[in-house]
Amino acid sequence: MDAHSHPAHDPDCLFCKIVAKKIPSRPVYEDEDFYAFHDIAPWAPVHFLLIPKLHIASMAHVSAQDAPLLGRMMVLVPQLALQEGCNPYPEGGFRLVTNTGAEGGQEVRHLHWHVMGGPRPWLRG
Ligand code: 5GP
Ligand code: ZN
Repeated sequence: MDAHSHPAHDPDCLFCKIVAKKIPSRPVYEDEDFYAFHDIAPWAPVHFLLIPKLHIASMAHVSAQDAPLLGRMMVLVPQLALQEGCNPYPEGGFRLVTNTGAEGGQEVRHLHWHVMGGPRPWLRG
């Protein structure tokens, strides 16, 4: 555990393996703290996942100490949405989703924000 009370990495975590490039992905953005990559099964013309490199398991695991990191993560969303081809607000826009826990529909237990957009109709959603 580090100062944030999250393990830096979980060796069994799919998205930690993607961050470590042990599993290939199509990059959207990367810096010291975050990685964004295209979802393997997109719902929409634009559908990428934005994750902290730190292994935060879900939004249920977030506390006040994480606020600066999550604030910076949120600021990336509109910037990356436009970069990836979402049309400008308000005619365009995007959907930001984070599934949390089994009843929230979360399958991968490493915090990830789905950013979806582009012209309708979408495959799902
Ligand atoms: P969740 O259901 O946990 O909110 O979302 C997990 C997402 O990860 C799904 O949309 C799924 O398509 C995506 N996903 C699962 N495995 C992989 C993978 O190996 N590579 C990529 N790029 N996306 C994945
Ligand atoms: Zn992880």
